[in-house]
Amino acid sequence: MDKSQGRVSRDGAAAELPPVATHSGHRGLVMDEKLIFEQGVEGRCGVDLPEPPKVARRLGGLERKAPVGLPGLSEPQVIRHYTRLSQKNFAIDAGLYPLGSCTMKHNPRLNEKAARMAGFADLHPLQPISTVQGALELMDQLSNWLTTLTGMPAVALSPGAGAHGEFCGMVAIRAAIEARGEAATRRRVLVPESAHGTNPATAAAIGFEVDAIPADARGRVDVAALKAKLGPDVAAIMLTNPNTCGLFEPDIVEIARLVREAGGYFYCDGANFNAIAGRVRPADLGVDAMHINLHKTFSTPHGGGGPGSGPVVFSARLAPHLPVPYVVRDAGGFRLVEHQSGAPSSLGRLKGFHGQMGMFVRALTYMLSHGADGVRQASNDAVLNANYVMARLQDVMTAAFEGPCMHECLFDDRFLKDTGVTTLDFAKAMIDEGYHPMTMYFPLVVHGAMLIEPTESETKESLDLFVDTLRSLAARAKAGEAEHFRAAPRLTPRRRLDETRAARAPVLRWKPKAAPVPRAAE
Ligand SMILES: *Cc1c(COP(=O)(O)O)cnc(C)c1O
Repeated sequence: MDKSQGRVSRDGAAAELPPVATHSGHRGLVMDEKLIFEQGVEGRCGVDLPEPPKVARRLGGLERKAPVGLPGLSEPQVIRHYTRLSQKNFAIDAGLYPLGSCTMKHNPRLNEKAARMAGFADLHPLQPISTVQGALELMDQLSNWLTTLTGMPAVALSPGAGAHGEFCGMVAIRAAIEARGEAATRRRVLVPESAHGTNPATAAAIGFEVDAIPADARGRVDVAALKAKLGPDVAAIMLTNPNTCGLFEPDIVEIARLVREAGGYFYCDGANFNAIAGRVRPADLGVDAMHINLHKTFSTPHGGGGPGSGPVVFSARLAPHLPVPYVVRDAGGFRLVEHQSGAPSSLGRLKGFHGQMGMFVRALTYMLSHGADGVRQASNDAVLNANYVMARLQDVMTAAFEGPCMHECLFDDRFLKDTGVTTLDFAKAMIDEGYHPMTMYFPLVVHGAMLIEPTESETKESLDLFVDTLRSLAARAKAGEAEHFRAAPRLTPRRRLDETRAARAPVLRWKPKAAPVPRAAE
């Protein structure tokens, strides 16, 4: 038994809750939901189906010999199953979601209303162009917002997520290098150590060599180390700004100049545009290509909530390589350039059809309902909220770097030194307190990292409760209550899981238990 069970907590307010074993497996009104196949009973059916008419067999002996194996369920069983599953999906609509680097943004209901309008929702990508002029105009307006906010002349809307946008931008860079006749020599891509994992993965997937640049003591790119790495074989740098430590790269203009002078291109990971939209135009920083995660900056759902969308803006020197399709407007209205025959330098097509239309509708709705001043305000609030959290926590937790942060604040595990509590234990204890943990152990350049990004739409009361909860946990860790942390989470349907085994040996397929052996055959 856990020593801390039944003990009164430090402030005397609430008794420590013992883990409860229930007969049903349910915990309070949190249901323990079996797999749908485990619930099924052979022969049960939610609807009355007519007897199928007798037909002549025409499958030449290829008919199924055994039952399909679908679970037999009543209609209420099906409804309950999916309703319960939906309740297990923690979302920004359910509570504060402080995941750093992911920008869990509130998705205003107005966006959903617009996306569900039949004129958008019921479109088919193969409809004649004359019947989708409104949709193309929406894509054109969205492009206009993105090029205006970034100061970049061209945009590719089709990439399906941030990482896909990186791929698009880096393939464009490769196309530009090929056009210069330097494909055989310019093969190295510089990636700061603090980069998001997708950056080196993208460069490597395209066939570039990845060369890491160290971070300096301030958590920024070490410019001297960068200079030493520049040469005629450098194709590009992939740099995130604000970087994954939540810090603005103050030397970015100098970095862009150096890379360009060496003949390379500047790919900026713009997933964190939410921190600077309306305040900084990437074009003014010397960027050649940058993806924008609509699902992070312009409030469309992501993760379990829906598909992402990763448009990429291009500088003038990359614009000729824009992927198809893209929207153009001429005397006859809007049309799509669909084939490389109409765009000979284009890098080609990245995706079936034109991109995530539903995301485009949500993003433009967000932009139009906020206006340019509102987009800027959202960036201000994102930065303000993160700095508020950092300022209120830095006397009890250890900030990884000095000075103000951008949209997310980064702590390391020095404050847990000698407490016997790890970053993982701390995160699990947060779950019992009703918080999805922050991003843990990332970025890798910081030991035991805890990266907190509060959504800009959180109220001060909600941020205060979050901060006070973390303060109380930090105090309990320092007071020697390591057991409390090691036993967490206590209040979830499942306790501490073997995460390594789950990742290494995932069980992805349900298999029926072996049928009982009939008596006669024993
Ligand atoms: C989220 C993120 C990405 C990847 O975006 P996806 O849409 O998840 O593919 C890349 N870089 C950074 C810095 C990010 O935060």
